[in-house]
Amino acid sequence: MKVPFLDLKAQNLPLLGELNEAIRQVIETSAFAGGPFVTSFEDDFAAYCHADFAIGVGSGTEALWLSLLALGIGPGDEVITVPNTFIATAEAITYCGARPVFVDVDERTYTMDPARLENAVTSRTKALIPVHLFGQPADMDPILEFARDRGLFVIEDACQAHGATYKGKSVGTLGDAGCFSFYPGKNLGAFGEAGAVITNHAALDQKLRVLRDHGQIQKYHHTMVGWNGRMDGIQAAILRIKLRHLDKGNALRRARALFYQQAFAGVPELITPFQADYARHVHHLYAVRVKNREEVIRRLNEREIGCGIHYPIPLHLQEAYKSLNYKRGDFPVAERTSAEFVSLPMFPELTTGQMEVVIQAVKEIVTGLPGHEPFDSGLWQKNRQIVPAL
Ligand SMILES: *Cc1c(COP(=O)(O)O)cnc(C)c1O
Repeated sequence: MKVPFLDLKAQNLPLLGELNEAIRQVIETSAFAGGPFVTSFEDDFAAYCHADFAIGVGSGTEALWLSLLALGIGPGDEVITVPNTFIATAEAITYCGARPVFVDVDERTYTMDPARLENAVTSRTKALIPVHLFGQPADMDPILEFARDRGLFVIEDACQAHGATYKGKSVGTLGDAGCFSFYPGKNLGAFGEAGAVITNHAALDQKLRVLRDHGQIQKYHHTMVGWNGRMDGIQAAILRIKLRHLDKGNALRRARALFYQQAFAGVPELITPFQADYARHVHHLYAVRVKNREEVIRRLNEREIGCGIHYPIPLHLQEAYKSLNYKRGDFPVAERTSAEFVSLPMFPELTTGQMEVVIQAVKEIVTGLPGHEPFDSGLWQKNRQIVPAL
């Protein structure tokens, strides 16, 4: 049986009636760029995240970029983030004129290691961008404490973590701003490109609203140089409906992660995702670690089982960031894990039958590889923790 990596049709078709009606309303009122549908979604999303404000923008990349701009980050500044993320996190820093500075990640959660911040901070550091990778929140308390002590801003890259919580609080509300992507494959996905920033700071909210609308406070009255960063009305109307199904989708993802976890519990050739005590992980991606990754992927492809790599090359080794002068060996955890990660099918509509096919195939492949080797038992044992109660 063929198993897709992601099945958006299975998610969207059951909602077709509601979605069609929402799109019809947008057409009826011609509120296509910004406007009332965007405002309604912003209200709903802010309430969902327990944030004071939400600002709809064109993408997650734009949410990150505009947040940095709104906080006044620019040429000569440095912003610390992690190398094992989608390139958008670093691009946003670069496009403000600032310099991305990387710190390595924690080997269990794959998120920013607060203990390494001290070595990366300089007098030019202005902000930190922890990434809640794969749906797991970064360890925010020590990161926030580090930032507070030094007067740095914290922007959370929550593009993979809609609905995740850190010690019971929604991600995106812990730092100064939280950035979300509604790219179609994300836990909350639009029918095209969209994103949002959430914040509890009224002044930041105001500045972001002006920035995303060409710097105007009133039509053709521009108080600053801004950008066209508005969310589409159709995306907002669709997102408003899909937001109502987000918690159910996340609960289904967690149930599927638990199912995988239990099935892989006795397989030391595989490291499964870990959920930190402080976290409600929402499993945007289900990335396991294997030795001999390319061969594992080749064999999964042969059996028509969808999989992905998030991400094969850490940012400090990307050609685009050659000028930052990093080298192999600078971030050992990010480098090692980027060579071992394989993301398995993970989406709310994934069936038990599909998961059984994936589990059977993965077990056969990783234990049947020539010269296959289990992971060092210390690391493997530590990561075997079963996802707690759903
Ligand atoms: C998807 C993603 C982004 C960018 O979001 P877009 O909406 O695609 O621009 C940024 N950071 C991370 C970690 C992401 O996964």
